[in-house]
Amino acid sequence: MSQVDTPVTQVFIGLGSNMKEPLIQLKSAATALRDTHGLSNIVFSSVYQTEPMGPADQPDYFNAVAQCETTLSADHLLDQTQLIENRAGRIRDRRWGPRSLDLDLLLYGQQIINTFRLTVPHAGIAERSFVLYPLADLAPSLDIPGKGKLSDLLDRCPQRGISRLQSSL
Ligand code: ATP
Ligand code: MG
Ligand code: MG
Repeated sequence: MSQVDTPVTQVFIGLGSNMKEPLIQLKSAATALRDTHGLSNIVFSSVYQTEPMGPADQPDYFNAVAQCETTLSADHLLDQTQLIENRAGRIRDRRWGPRSLDLDLLLYGQQIINTFRLTVPHAGIAERSFVLYPLADLAPSLDIPGKGKLSDLLDRCPQRGISRLQSSL
């Protein structure tokens, strides 16, 4: 069955990992996203090493953001990103606990979505340095629906605990 069912929409996806060789996890996820039917023109931010949010007894994270165009609905895109997470051996136990791969749908065009499986823009987007700094690599003049200008959010979000790496995806 075809899942190509919406016009082309620009989306941003957050990538994170702090287990099982995080940089390799992010590179594999980048390949999987490039290979996903219905995603095109994909570009990645720099990779950042970031201190963990929530439980502190876990390794640092590696984070990045992908920007791409999609013809998938937001729900179908979430199906695809969850499939990629599951293939990376993602296990959900502790909230914000260590994970091999997390793929969060940060923005789906300018849409605001609130369903039982999806909150878009992502609920943490306005406060998370590991999301805002990579987003600014890709689209510094972005407007985030219901939250304001990315540049204003960055002004309120110190770059503490996050450093840009040389690696690229
Ligand atoms: P956080 O969402 O605070 O970053 P998390 O990424 O660790 O936490 P997950 O365990 O990956 O959370 O996802 C829990 C649920 O969040 C998923 O089953 C999914 O249905 C829901 N969800 C809601 N909004 C989104 C979104 N924008 N992107 C991805 N998942 C979302
Ligand atoms: Mg997350
Ligand atoms: Mg998630």
